[in-house]
Amino acid sequence: MERRPLGRTGIPVPRLCYGTLPLGPLQAGLPPEEGGALLAYAMDRGVDFLDTAELYGTYAHVRAAVRLAGRAPLVCTKSYAWDRGGMAESVDKARRETGLDVLDVFLLHEQETPLTLLGHAQAFEYLLECRAKGLVRAVGFSTHAAAPVEAAVAAKRGGVAEDADDPWQGLGCGPYAEADVIHPILNRAGLGLIDGPPERMLRAAAAARAEGIGILGMKMLGGGNLLPTLREEAAWALALPFVDAFAVGMQTRAEIDMDVALIEGRPVPEEAARAAAAREKRLWIHDWCTGCGACVERCTRGALAMGEDGKSRVDRSKCVLCGYCAAACRDFAIKVV
Ligand code: SF4
Ligand code: SF4
Repeated sequence: MERRPLGRTGIPVPRLCYGTLPLGPLQAGLPPEEGGALLAYAMDRGVDFLDTAELYGTYAHVRAAVRLAGRAPLVCTKSYAWDRGGMAESVDKARRETGLDVLDVFLLHEQETPLTLLGHAQAFEYLLECRAKGLVRAVGFSTHAAAPVEAAVAAKRGGVAEDADDPWQGLGCGPYAEADVIHPILNRAGLGLIDGPPERMLRAAAAARAEGIGILGMKMLGGGNLLPTLREEAAWALALPFVDAFAVGMQTRAEIDMDVALIEGRPVPEEAARAAAAREKRLWIHDWCTGCGACVERCTRGALAMGEDGKSRVDRSKCVLCGYCAAACRDFAIKVV
């Protein structure tokens, strides 16, 4: 599989990165051995770049993959920690639970505006210290919005003017001139992008890559919503010259075979495409939902609302099947299946 340098990090990554979220408790809930076996299967096919996060609950799956494959993959992880102490715990947890001393990419998770980034500056500064000590190799953030990407570009360009166009709104850019990697949502339809249109994100990501920031795209297939046109989506995404790699969630060997073929520009085996298309995902809300509203508050896409029956309801046109709402539900009543 083709490898490209991840921005200026010096890390050569395969163009397909394994998104591990669907293996964990927010989606399939596979036992670590089973998930680890899938990861090792992908690693044997050149997909030795794994995307995880504290939220995903898949560190044990990564650890199993290391053992089964007999070698360490490249790993990207993320944390919602906003302060120094919280991030210190997150870094310790990731190293301890994956069994990896060095994490290749460590990101602030789901940063939606430049102000959110500033609110996480302490945590980012802690990551920079970890980078200096060699505990992590590259740092940055993931996002479903163009505004933070634009802000990182402004930070890289050295200072930000205090004018109407200043994405940092005159507050300065904090430590973000040091960002190495951005993990933005990138798909042809702009699904899941919270401050569209899609062209805005494309412009911002291209500008970030021009400033040397590695771009790890996410949700090329819109969380599975774009599977019916997967060949077109993949062709569109792979033609974007500024994206170093794409993280794609996979849950079966058939999906791995299909996505490896897509990324390598080979014809997708019909059987694999059929099997993947047949495994259509959806958000399932159980009838024991108590209507507490925690999931509604958690969904940044406005895809959830309380129904007249006092239970959570999903607007499928807005849902990107990320599964993040599942983590907010104490009653395990909502899940991507
Ligand atoms: S968080 Fe769970 S219990 Fe609360 S409204 Fe959502 S699905 Fe229902
Ligand atoms: S409803 Fe849940 S799965 Fe759908 S976009 Fe919102 S957080 Fe993600």
